[in-house]
Amino acid sequence: HLYSSSVTEETVFAGDSLLTINTFDSTVTVDDYVNEHIKLSDEQGKEDAFYVVNLGDVVQKLHLWRDKLPRVEPFYAVKCNDDPAVLQTLAALGTGFDCASKAEITKVLSLGVEPDRIIYAHPCKTASHIRFAAETNVRMTTFDNEPELHKIKQLHPTAKLVLRIRADDPKAICNLGIKFGAKVPEAKRLLGVAKGLGLDVIGVSFHVGSGCTNADAYGKAISWAAEVFDHAREIGMNLTMLDIGGGFPGQRGAPITFEEIVDEVSPALEKYFPAESGIRIIAEPGRFFVASAFTLVVNIVAKRIIDAEQLAQDQDGPKFMYYVNDGVYGSFNCLMYDHATVDVKVPPFYVPSELHRASIWGPTCDGIDCILKKAWMPEMDIGQWLIFEDMGAYTCAASSTFNGFARPYFVYIAPAALYDTVRDPSRHSAIAMPRTTSQSTDEGFDSMEDQARKAEDEVVASNS
Ligand code: PLP
Repeated sequence: HLYSSSVTEETVFAGDSLLTINTFDSTVTVDDYVNEHIKLSDEQGKEDAFYVVNLGDVVQKLHLWRDKLPRVEPFYAVKCNDDPAVLQTLAALGTGFDCASKAEITKVLSLGVEPDRIIYAHPCKTASHIRFAAETNVRMTTFDNEPELHKIKQLHPTAKLVLRIRADDPKAICNLGIKFGAKVPEAKRLLGVAKGLGLDVIGVSFHVGSGCTNADAYGKAISWAAEVFDHAREIGMNLTMLDIGGGFPGQRGAPITFEEIVDEVSPALEKYFPAESGIRIIAEPGRFFVASAFTLVVNIVAKRIIDAEQLAQDQDGPKFMYYVNDGVYGSFNCLMYDHATVDVKVPPFYVPSELHRASIWGPTCDGIDCILKKAWMPEMDIGQWLIFEDMGAYTCAASSTFNGFARPYFVYIAPAALYDTVRDPSRHSAIAMPRTTSQSTDEGFDSMEDQARKAEDEVVASNS
């Protein structure tokens, strides 16, 4: 049994939470773990939905980031998934954090993160949250309008301000430019206002839109930011930081790869903000770090078999309707808010059989609570389990308990060698060394076994 043989349970403090992390050697894969936990749930008569969270994947993403964008410091966007184990992992490995509220700032500070590793990246802030940022010495914050400058002058006059410009990819999955960001001419005017108020503007930020599908947007945004830097210089202001925001994909099979964005960002930075300029470059990636680390497993709680008469009327319709214990009011809120699409996987140990058209529904009484209108699946039984991968971004962070249905619980796992770097970050620098050989699978990221094997090799190398 996996649990007794290759898995070691470790207890870790993450702020106020006490977490159990299951570490294992490279003979175990995430799929093994998911399948074992399903079997264990069956043995124990448990039906609750759960997430398997692979912290090794988060670590590996950070390696990839530091390898491909070594000049850009990631400030993880907490809004995307504020899971304590994810925050603790990234905090231990030295990333910064993008917080949007007092509660997010509190959570990150509780992990022992210094306030200068936080950017309060919300251009339209609540007054009491600004006061809290001032009290806790969180000084970096964004703005994009004049009234906000007056608020900041009054409530947090020593803030280090970052001017957010509008630079959206019109094809991004979630457009943010309709709500935030000053166009370049307005941004230039705002610099003058800030100067007149004696405020300290340190840089420019943008967000091309969450789920960017068009890498060009970054190149354009960086050139517009350079125009604002030039204007600042002309009026005697010295900007020192560029924040290239979020939008980087994190799931398998994303419409655009991280590498494609890197290929646009790196030359644009080299052209407009070369290393010799001394400009500090940061980013606010959210989904990049968490999307693929979270696998959700749900239980079939009910089933409807469509009768022959109805099937004859709707020949494209499902033959089976399955009702599961998480839905659009829970983790699958991503279908609405994040415009996500999801794929279902049937655990491999169920006896394979003929595929049928099926639909999958959440547990609430609302007709909108549909996860998949059409999926081809073997006939399933009540009590069996279904698997959804890539469920880490904008899922559990925004879920509710509508109708009294509980959120899934979390099982944290990590390959031991990768987790060693979290326990002892000095090992991380050895592992995060840029690699010259290709390190990706077709899907853009190392397989679990490769990750674990490489990490083990590199830890050995760094210790010898
Ligand atoms: N920064 C800001 C200001 C955001 O609003 C968001 C997402 O909405 C992010 C960063 C993270 O974006 P992503 O998850 O696409 O990287």
